[in-house]
Amino acid sequence: MLKIHPIPAFSDNYIWTLIDASEERACVVDPGDATPVIDYLTANNLALTDILITHHHPDHTGGIAELTQRYSPAVYGPMNERIQGITQRLQEGQRIEVFGLDFSVIEVPGHTLDHIAYFSDSNTTPILFCGDTLFAAGCGRLFEGTPETMLASLEKLAALPAATQVYCTHEYTLANLRFASAVEPDNQDLLVRVQTEQAKRNADKPTLPSNLTLEFATNPFMRCATPSIKAAAEQYAGHAVDTKVEVFAAVRRWKDNF
Ligand SMILES: [Zn+2]
Repeated sequence: MLKIHPIPAFSDNYIWTLIDASEERACVVDPGDATPVIDYLTANNLALTDILITHHHPDHTGGIAELTQRYSPAVYGPMNERIQGITQRLQEGQRIEVFGLDFSVIEVPGHTLDHIAYFSDSNTTPILFCGDTLFAAGCGRLFEGTPETMLASLEKLAALPAATQVYCTHEYTLANLRFASAVEPDNQDLLVRVQTEQAKRNADKPTLPSNLTLEFATNPFMRCATPSIKAAAEQYAGHAVDTKVEVFAAVRRWKDNF
């Protein structure tokens, strides 16, 4: 049975670590910092064989050089040539295998233009490494893409099985839930989620992974077709918003200023 462990990094990143069944080999996702990864691998007698990169931001790529020098892993990542140290560049629909799990590559531009996600349904429950695209109760800021591109990317992820476990890179959940509660104060699922996620943080546990079912129920950015979200977006914008993209754009702008 494969284990997935979060290595905390910086103030709120998780470097997700897949450990193979023999507990001898590991694969890390978005190692922004090599030091906590080396510490964890050393403490657990693990060899690093694979690195998965989702996008070019330094807090996702900063550890590649040092980890490569030490372990010589395969390094998978986006086509973006600006990211140094990628040994296999990937695009939409390509598949890779890690510890017997078959991952397909999904291009999800929006947060950055080069952003990709890794999805596998060969595990008991399907898993998704989505970097800074989908967060628990939120989504990444639009640094490079437009609301159209980001919404299309989120809709690609929404088409995955509802049971999919969502491994995002940042522990932003409580702040995202505060915003989501401002958008939808009467959403009962959201009220429950605030309690359960707060309890995890009080116990010093990660709120992640999330899952798509929970996101459909509580994430305003996954609910742009919901009347309550549309009404809240119109109230924030001060005028009627007609399309899902306009709803998404208004809610994203609102979050940026929240
Ligand atoms: Zn980022």
